Amino acid sequence: MTSPRPLIAGNWKMNGLSPALAEARAVADGVGVTTARVAICPPAILIHRMVQALAGSTVLIGGQDHHWDDAGAFTGDTSAAMLADAGAQLVILGHSERRAGYRESDDVVGRKVLAALRAGLEPIVCVGETLEQRQAGEALNIVRSQVRGSLPDALAGTAFSVAYEPVWAIGTGLTPTTPEIEEVHQAIRSTLIDMFGEAARAVPILYGGSVKPGNAAEILHASEVGGALVGGASLKAEDFLGIIRAV
Ligand code: PEP
Repeated sequence: MTSPRPLIAGNWKMNGLSPALAEARAVADGVGVTTARVAICPPAILIHRMVQALAGSTVLIGGQDHHWDDAGAFTGDTSAAMLADAGAQLVILGHSERRAGYRESDDVVGRKVLAALRAGLEPIVCVGETLEQRQAGEALNIVRSQVRGSLPDALAGTAFSVAYEPVWAIGTGLTPTTPEIEEVHQAIRSTLIDMFGEAARAVPILYGGSVKPGNAAEILHASEVGGALVGGASLKAEDFLGIIRAV
């Protein structure tokens, strides 16, 4: 079975006004020949303009979240179809900032994944333990249970990825050791195979949490790591390109 192409996805979170489109263009211009698929997930309001700014480039554009329903009376929300209509091809779902800040359960994340599939978006589903859970020796159990609870059966045969993002590593400059990353990625892989069969070997499992140009090569070459979800370091083209070049 061929290995999946690595995916390097930038999560801009709630950062970026119009001038930031120049950073995205600089990524597109600098990406060159790479085996990786490269994506930028800007705030939803920038997606359409980013599609225009990156015209002709191979860089994919994604959303960061959407509602689980397709349309309706949900003031302030955005649907998956709206993201797709604006030009998004992927979407991050179940990020720990949404699980913690908006109380998104595995069930809610799973419903959002179904909405993404209905809209033709490729989901990147995030899982990861807190520091307390890791210190209690619960990291593997937590991550396995998030994978089982957040990934609906309907994903079978579709393109999606899972991002392992230890909550304590996001935006902190801390990262797990390489063996710790490999242990969790292996647990995610075996859970995916349990759920979806051997075809799940082709699902990229991304690592996310304080990935920088300086640590990217070691992380990206670890066993079962199929790419990275990058927050802070995706905001500057030079840093993001440094990570892409480490693939
Ligand atoms: C993230 O929020 O998905 C993330 C990985 O952030 P950072 O790279 O800044 O730790």
